[in-house]
Amino acid sequence: MTRSGVRTTVRVKIKTKVITMRKRKKLEQITGRDTRIIKQFIKVIYHNEDHIVSNKKVNKAKLDHLTLTTSKKNKQPKRLSVRHDLKKNFPRCSQNELQECRENAVAIYHSQQVKNTLPSKEAPTKKAPRTQLEHNRRFILACSPSNTIARWWVGIRDSLDTKKNKTSKHEKLWLPLACSPYHEYKIHQGKIKALEVLYYTKKKEWWVHFILLHVPDKYSSPRPPAVLGIDLGINKRAVSALLTPKGTINRHEIRFWSDKTRKKLLKETERKVAKLQKILAQSNLSCGKSRILLHQLKTLRKRQRTEHKLSDHTYVNRLVKYILSVGKRYDLYVVVGFPIHIRKSHYRGNLRPYSRKSVHKWNYRRVTELLKFKLSLHGWEEHRILSINESWTSSCCSRCGSYHTTRPNQPTFICNNCGYQLNADLNGAKNIAKRLIKYVLQPKYNSIKDQVSSKFFPLSSFCVFPVLSQWL
Ligand SMILES: [Zn+2]
Repeated sequence: MTRSGVRTTVRVKIKTKVITMRKRKKLEQITGRDTRIIKQFIKVIYHNEDHIVSNKKVNKAKLDHLTLTTSKKNKQPKRLSVRHDLKKNFPRCSQNELQECRENAVAIYHSQQVKNTLPSKEAPTKKAPRTQLEHNRRFILACSPSNTIARWWVGIRDSLDTKKNKTSKHEKLWLPLACSPYHEYKIHQGKIKALEVLYYTKKKEWWVHFILLHVPDKYSSPRPPAVLGIDLGINKRAVSALLTPKGTINRHEIRFWSDKTRKKLLKETERKVAKLQKILAQSNLSCGKSRILLHQLKTLRKRQRTEHKLSDHTYVNRLVKYILSVGKRYDLYVVVGFPIHIRKSHYRGNLRPYSRKSVHKWNYRRVTELLKFKLSLHGWEEHRILSINESWTSSCCSRCGSYHTTRPNQPTFICNNCGYQLNADLNGAKNIAKRLIKYVLQPKYNSIKDQVSSKFFPLSSFCVFPVLSQWL
């Protein structure tokens, strides 16, 4: 979360079937022209890299000198010519639109620098959308309940409008949107900041992306501090345990999170994929038959990916709801265990193929990121939801701290030192929460690292922790 708020995107399809051919052509012209302008800007940046780029940042004023402005102020000597005059090349494009294209080009250049990708590889095929700023002035989202074609319309500035009597008249290009109640709900949650019009080549559809800004109130609670430890798992999606200043765990605050209906669906799709793969492995298939099967496999895999994503979203939503309710009673900090080297330890040939498969399918990073993002929409700062290394938390006793423990089967945990017996995942969740308290109160280092974002947070952000010292 930045200081200014959280940004989200809402994607809405344009009802292309009901708009006129003229409008569709205009859309194509506008987006095509924007792409060409953005590419020209990128070209200019790469050609003049030594001159306008310093510290990997593009100097926008210098870029403008090369492309848009002829002279700046009266004091400076007048420059009457521009080397790459984009205004001349695109006479029907307004200054505002050129500047918006410049912003996009600079953003693309910066992202290419981060990724170290060559411009020649990415430039030719992809369409680059222009981010249109200033809602209500440069574009409008309007609701017309009585309209039979669409309830929601977006009006964008049509700069390609025809000239009448030597003056160009800019009209709005009104596009009908396929806006569902879900989209309406999402759009009303934030403030519309920008808009992009995109063409999806594979689907052959036009879409509008609204970029929203959320500025939630900062979460802070005057109540006693508590740490919620979450142990992510494969069979049970998560286990959470709450450590409060009382020093004992309230059994009502122990939660096991799983999603049986979705799991069933996922298993079903998985079975179908395996069946298809088995048929495809046979050598006596004809060319046409195998092509059909491959197509089926592709669609199945796509469905599988969406199902995985949906399942993550639903259970993270439930988790967020629970965390928010606990957050009202305590000054809450959330710790999620992050299994750092788990994929490396499940290498091919470690004689446990079944667990290897499930580990490699497990998307713990996405779940943690989702949790962080969804809580940030409610004003939670980054240090309140941390992911820390969870190694050894599953084999350490959460009561006496001994490693002399056994697990007769997956869910059971027995401590040989003090005889403590409980669910193994719950033991892990308790240990993860305890680990954060230990990091803060017995500091080895001055800061705590978040494993997902690789950011360091100073111990001063956890100044309320001394009340929790009885957990050590
Ligand atoms: Zn013990």
